[in-house]
Amino acid sequence: MKDIIKNIKGTKDATLEETVIWQYIEEYIHKFFITYGYSEIRTPTFENTELFIKSIGGDSDIVSKEMYSWIDQGKNKLTLRPEFTASVVRHFIQNQLHKKNPMHKMYYIGSSFRRERPQKGRLREFHQFGVEAFGSKFPEQDAEIISMAYNFYKGLKIQDLNLEINSIGSKQSRDEYRKALKGYLEKYKSDLSETSQKRLESNPLRILDTKIDFEKEIIKDAPKIIDYLDKKDHHHFSNTLDFLDSIKIPYTINNYLVRGLDYYSQTVFEIQSSLLGSQNALCGGGRYDYLVEELGGQATPAIGFAAGIERLILAIDTKKIMNKTPDVYMISMGDEAIQFSFKIADKLRNDKNLYIVNDTLRRTMKSQLKDANRLMAKHVIIIGEEEINSKKLTIKNMKTGEQKKLSIENIIRFFK
Ligand code: AMP
Repeated sequence: MKDIIKNIKGTKDATLEETVIWQYIEEYIHKFFITYGYSEIRTPTFENTELFIKSIGGDSDIVSKEMYSWIDQGKNKLTLRPEFTASVVRHFIQNQLHKKNPMHKMYYIGSSFRRERPQKGRLREFHQFGVEAFGSKFPEQDAEIISMAYNFYKGLKIQDLNLEINSIGSKQSRDEYRKALKGYLEKYKSDLSETSQKRLESNPLRILDTKIDFEKEIIKDAPKIIDYLDKKDHHHFSNTLDFLDSIKIPYTINNYLVRGLDYYSQTVFEIQSSLLGSQNALCGGGRYDYLVEELGGQATPAIGFAAGIERLILAIDTKKIMNKTPDVYMISMGDEAIQFSFKIADKLRNDKNLYIVNDTLRRTMKSQLKDANRLMAKHVIIIGEEEINSKKLTIKNMKTGEQKKLSIENIIRFFK
């Protein structure tokens, strides 16, 4: 095995067994978001690097150290998407969607790339799905997005969900807060990590996202953003919570939740599950009312969330997503029987839409039966010399052991 080419660190194959779970989740995603009136948008896997720098922010972890970027033969600076919102916003602006309709609701699903340190629930190529709603500034839009995220996981029976929510206010209130927070953190500057010391100058709010224990201690007594929100921000936040209360979505207010990306404003939220371990975030999102304008479009309020599929798979009870077992396993012996078996299998698939397995290894009858058992086939149809001569096929119910000989017409009729 020494010299074989292996997959890249931080990437993963979905194995033959795992794709059943992926397909189940993908199908659920498409069905679920349609019920809220969201349509699917697909964007390219790579974009101009500038798009991500401008939207996510130059001093974010993603842009400063995690992007897969390169310069192509035409000297274009390109990057594999580390998330979708930037691309979806680019699509919205480029196609002037605001002129076509005052409201646009969309969802996406696909792979994202970040050069993080791989661990359980953290990959370098991972898969995200999410939603973006463009056009509404009202709190019911926030509540729709948040409840959609929560109900998505509830519908999949994910246990121990914790929805955390906060408001980081408008630009103005955040400027005031930033000053207060910086003043507070400066007293502890020498205790902060090197990264946080840099962020103290560039973007102190980011320090609130810290995963370092001693920094978390310092933050415990830091000023809270909620005390700096203006009347409009407060109103928006409390209205959003009222909507959530009215549809009985449980949440916790976390005054220090700011989320790592530059583009958020007002409502931010995250859903975690304790089943996940250290990488416990299932999804996160928030309002980004300034981003469309900052990327050159007409000012448009917007809100969305992004979620990881690999983390969802860690939290989901995969045993309940059973692999489908064959309706029929065709057992055939001899050239004539093999040809005949092929035809019958084809007819059963076409006429009855059944899941049929043909043996293509010309194994002994015993081995074919063993394989049918391994696959947990519901029935086997046996075709040998005797069956060819009598034109009657043996069909066996693998659960009850009941066995009968039926004409071809009756075999077809046997399956409803
Ligand atoms: P973010 O854009 O960082 O808020 O990510 C949104 C969601 O994507 C997270 O809540 C995770 O479920 C998932 N996610 C983010 N980064 C990774 C990663 N490196 N590996 C696996 N899932 C990820």
